[in-house]
Amino acid sequence: MTGNEAGHGAIVRNRDLIDVWIEAPRGNRKQVVYEKILSLIDITDEPSKHLKIDMMLTMLDGSVVNVLSETNSTMKCIICGATPKDMNTLTGINRPPNVDNYRFGLSTLHCWIRFFECLLHIGYRLPIKSWQVRGPENKAIVEANKKRIEAEFRAKLSLIVDKPKPGYGSSNDGNTARIFFHNPQTSSDITGVDRELIEKFAIILGVLASGCAIDLEKFASLLEEARNLYIIIIIIIIIINGLYFVLK
Ligand SMILES: [Zn+2]
Repeated sequence: MTGNEAGHGAIVRNRDLIDVWIEAPRGNRKQVVYEKILSLIDITDEPSKHLKIDMMLTMLDGSVVNVLSETNSTMKCIICGATPKDMNTLTGINRPPNVDNYRFGLSTLHCWIRFFECLLHIGYRLPIKSWQVRGPENKAIVEANKKRIEAEFRAKLSLIVDKPKPGYGSSNDGNTARIFFHNPQTSSDITGVDRELIEKFAIILGVLASGCAIDLEKFASLLEEARNLYIIIIIIIIIINGLYFVLK
């Protein structure tokens, strides 16, 4: 956010504003945030100048955006309201977008981390071929595989993955994710996740973070290819396994 018509510029970090927002009494939050912004911008020596503020909340993570967009579940898409069940179908999603929520932007940093964690958690479960980890036997298999994957990332790429960090969530940050995607063969060998899918995700994430104009037609076909590949993997994990139980 800048206020530079009077020649003064001020950059206010979203994080600071979110703290102010959280601490302010409900119902009075907009006013408190507005006053905070004004207090940070010195216009006292130019009283005749106008100040125009455009506040854009574009660097938020999923849980904050969920609250602000009044989406009632953290599993739902804030743009089209699709649930995980809608997302994991072969037919694709064709739901009208809530264009108003485009204002929250897309945090590419969080995209890197979430894409990475998604593939990592699929990797943990590959030996049991089921998303749900039921029963002590399956729990032990997944836990042992998780330990092996973590140890191999540490040995081969010097990465500490999925370790809780006091006060900061987990050790999975943008750097962890980038190293994972920049080493698709090693990451695939360790997790068992298809190398091509890791590569396609890496291109998608690189394009989103590039800041360059995107050829939407080409990007759409890349997304489509990646989606189909991803769904095939999901189907192998969930549906084939379900069929196996049905046939048994
Ligand atoms: Zn959506």
